[in-house]
Amino acid sequence: MTQAVTEPVDVRNYIGGIWRPSSGDRTLPIQDPASAEILGHVPLSTASDVHAAVAAAAEAFPAWRATPAVERARILFRLKALLEENKEDLARSLSREHGKIVAECRGEVQRCIESVEHACGIPTLMMGETLEDIAPGIDCATYRQPLGVFAAVTPYNFPVMIPLWFWPYAVATGNTFVLKPSEQDPLTHQRIVDLAAEAGLPAGVLNVVHGGKEAVTALMEHPDVCGISFVGSSQVARTVYAAAAASGKRVQALGGAKNHLVVLPDADPDEVANVCMASIFGSSGQRCLAGSIVVGVGSAYESVRDRLVRGARELTLGYGLDDATDMGPVISAPHRDRVLSYIDAGESEGATLVVDGRGASVDGYPDGNWIGPTVFEDVSPDMKIGTDEVFGPVVGLARVESVEEAIELMHRNRYGNACSIFTKSGKAARDFRYAAGISMIGVNIGVVAPMACFPFGGSRGSFYGDLKAQGRDAIEFYTDKRVVISRW
Ligand code: NAD
Repeated sequence: MTQAVTEPVDVRNYIGGIWRPSSGDRTLPIQDPASAEILGHVPLSTASDVHAAVAAAAEAFPAWRATPAVERARILFRLKALLEENKEDLARSLSREHGKIVAECRGEVQRCIESVEHACGIPTLMMGETLEDIAPGIDCATYRQPLGVFAAVTPYNFPVMIPLWFWPYAVATGNTFVLKPSEQDPLTHQRIVDLAAEAGLPAGVLNVVHGGKEAVTALMEHPDVCGISFVGSSQVARTVYAAAAASGKRVQALGGAKNHLVVLPDADPDEVANVCMASIFGSSGQRCLAGSIVVGVGSAYESVRDRLVRGARELTLGYGLDDATDMGPVISAPHRDRVLSYIDAGESEGATLVVDGRGASVDGYPDGNWIGPTVFEDVSPDMKIGTDEVFGPVVGLARVESVEEAIELMHRNRYGNACSIFTKSGKAARDFRYAAGISMIGVNIGVVAPMACFPFGGSRGSFYGDLKAQGRDAIEFYTDKRVVISRW
């Protein structure tokens, strides 16, 4: 059932521990994607808002940097407990502003908890190395030191998990932070900021500035921002990577995806279909790890196709907070139209439309951004639906005769975020892992999401940079290794 209508929120920036209105007067509405109810308005912050946030972060840096790592970790331990206590409320709030079903939102909040949990280990994660006698009587040691103010710019599809790929590690290592969240669904993360303050995070250590391109540009150009993490579409990722690097910053920019799920004839077709359904249609396909092309090798093709088509027809579209709902709406009307235009293009380019999600509707929600599950056969890399990231509940099926041919097909795509193989053969899985030039690889797993202690990020057109998000890479990204060589 739709959550009760509440007063729309005027979203504020969080600067120096205070929620402040933007200095600009432009705003965007935040809409419930199912009911179209206005949940709030988000400011399109100005460069001067960004400068104020960076100044607050820079001012907080010396004292925060001097706070012992164990004390910083204790604040994160308290935040982890508060996230656990508030998990259900956060998940419900997230479902409402994003549209995805509440079970998926619980999973997203759980991922936030795991990031904070991992960052709690900072006293050991941040340790340096030592070696005695690098020459007679001379010792060498490295100390990991924070660098100052870091920033992140994050997308709409995981509006609480993705910011927490970054700032818990940045502040755990002693840096201070400015986040520019997605302007489409910024509400739930605001509550996490309040929880961080309640946990004891001092004013100015974490700041949030809302908005779009102007705010991002101001962050990229600001001389006091020493590094930027970006997650979003590849086109913007590439621009941010180039601009932030040109202004001398550390930068990691995670982009879009087109993930192939390769099925071998020896895989159990029922298990494969279950896993693939979740991968393709979970979050209405708005995941950088969503399966978007299913490649059946030889006789695997027909058995998986039949099950996916049946599964797609049985999915219940609806409001994310309804228990009966399997799949929610997409984020906005413009995004729905963009996905629908891909379905039109697939048809006109010659793919066979087997399940058509156009014209979907849900009783009681006439203004929702609905698209039903959509399945195409005969999809080739020369078609837009075979090559572009659609970011909706649309899957293309392709048939090949060997694993080598499947890998060749994957490599024709410009993205390299994730891929999976389904097989009972260890040798086939090993050969696939060895040859697939793609960073996150699943073996009998449809959503290849590394846990917080492992790096998250793709390759080729899906990633610009070298150090990935979370895991040990985060510690590398947020610290400099100071080397001290001593003779006494
Ligand atoms: P987006 O690129 O439109 O926006 C991402 C962020 O960049 C937002 O904060 C937005 O305000 C800002 N932005 C948008 N245009 C900008 C511009 N011209 N200049 C500066 N900043 C700009 O992405 P989205 O629609 O919010 O998210 C979906 C995309 O994110 C998909 O492509 C998806 O694959 C990708 N994504 C990737 C990963 C990953 O791990 N690789 C994870 C999640 C999402």
